[in-house]
Amino acid sequence: MERLGSGIEAGRLSTNEYASNFSDLHPRLDRHEALVASDRCYFCYDAPCMTACPTAIDIPMFIRQISTGNPLGSAQTIFAQNILGGMCARVCPTETLCEDVCVRNTAEDRPVEIGRLQRYATDIAMEAGRQFFERKASSGKKIVVVGAGPAGLAAAHRLAVNGHEVTVLEAREKSGGLNEYGIATYKAVDDFAQREVDYVTAIGGITIEHGKALGRDYSLSDLSADYDAVFLGMGLSGVNGLGIEGEDLSGVEDAVDFIATLRQSEDKATIPVGRRVVVLGGGMTAIDAAIQAKLLGAEEVTICYRRGKQNMNASEYEQDLAASKGVIIRHWLAPKSIIGKDGKVAGIEVEYTAIVDGRLTTTGETGIIAADQIFKAIGQTFSATGLGALQFDKGKIVVDSQGHTSIENVWAGGDCIGTGEDLTVSAVAQGRDAAESINSMLAAGSKPASAVA
Ligand SMILES: Cc1cc2nc3c(=O)[nH]c(=O)nc-3n(C[C@H](O)[C@H](O)[C@H](O)COP(=O)(O)OP(=O)(O)OC[C@H]3O[C@@H](n4cnc5c(N)ncnc54)[C@H](O)[C@@H]3O)c2cc1C
Ligand code: SF4
Repeated sequence: MERLGSGIEAGRLSTNEYASNFSDLHPRLDRHEALVASDRCYFCYDAPCMTACPTAIDIPMFIRQISTGNPLGSAQTIFAQNILGGMCARVCPTETLCEDVCVRNTAEDRPVEIGRLQRYATDIAMEAGRQFFERKASSGKKIVVVGAGPAGLAAAHRLAVNGHEVTVLEAREKSGGLNEYGIATYKAVDDFAQREVDYVTAIGGITIEHGKALGRDYSLSDLSADYDAVFLGMGLSGVNGLGIEGEDLSGVEDAVDFIATLRQSEDKATIPVGRRVVVLGGGMTAIDAAIQAKLLGAEEVTICYRRGKQNMNASEYEQDLAASKGVIIRHWLAPKSIIGKDGKVAGIEVEYTAIVDGRLTTTGETGIIAADQIFKAIGQTFSATGLGALQFDKGKIVVDSQGHTSIENVWAGGDCIGTGEDLTVSAVAQGRDAAESINSMLAAGSKPASAVA
């Protein structure tokens, strides 16, 4: 039997191959491994790893607690700063954050495995159902959070801890945001995103209403009038288009939709994938779509990126991971047109690019890559429907350092704001900090001045 059919097909692999391809990328360390890994830490004073963590987890402290056989104490240290520390342990690009600046990260040595140690401690605590926060007495205040992604969940948790009643409005069927619908399958196995939502909401005082969208079911002025404060953690729900000929052909898809379908499928054998796949983009979404297409059994997967290797948003580690799975990354190529046959994708015409006088430009030299499936991963956009008078800059919500927007009782955080990197851990930090800002304003009984005139 021919192993690979042409065109886009489901079920290219055996059941065992799917199971092995989509298994946990970095399984949890066992007790002995965790003790050995934690013993490598120098417990630095003024630890650079801690400064590099957007949620400022006390890394030397939690590693020392593991090394003294106290994983629950370690988890408490982590969750004190980052209630989604379990997911962040799985998805953080530690190679560009804490582990990058670890003093052991030298030419002769390697960094302490901070991410894997964080996972060890948080997994133990979550599996034991250990909660480390107690809610304060009721404040009598009602707060609405829009979006149950990392930013919204972190904000909701910190608000609930401070005694407020929190309603979360979530447009989709499930909570978790991109933790549930975006993160690569092999980074968050065994329904971890939902288990984490349950862990976060177990604090009490948080009601999540699914299928409720700001802009469709509510306007921002409704919410701002009905609640003491509003937190917007809506992420980026739109995607950029290519604007080239052939974009509407069958076989051209948004990478985020492909990944969401894959994440929601019980059986990977039902997900169709091309024989020759081209992914357009240079960020984490491009890498994740490419790797997962390969793991679904695509024969050839090529990422085309219009700039050089050093310009890619995906970290070097992610690029190496893609290469290790057989993905080819080609640089300095821009899509020119998509070639179709019988209404379906047959290939893509690309044009070489170069930097001329400091600007990216096409050179006129073209080539064709055969493809039956093309994924667009060229960036997401913010949908501003229903947000009325809110101030935006470059398509994102303008906030001050506390996450406070231009509207009096409205805060925002995560991918929908214009500051920080679009990472899970940054969204958690911003949600948490905005919740603290809301709490201070409400505790002071003062009306907040709007951040932006
Ligand atoms: C494919 C992909 C892979 C990624 N991989 C990684 C990774 O490995 N590591 C990493 O650190 N980061 C990764 N990221 C980035 C990371 O997922 C995001 O930075 C993070 O999820 C942002 O959190 P958020 O809460 O701001 O938004 P989201 O996670 O997008 O959550 C927003 C929530 O708001 C809801 N919502 C939107 N509009 C409305 C509305 N009008 N009304 C009500 N609800 C609404 C959405 O349904 C969603 O649940 C990845 C992103 C993508 C796209
Ligand atoms: S920088 Fe490295 S060695 Fe120092 S405290 Fe952090 S993890 Fe430990």
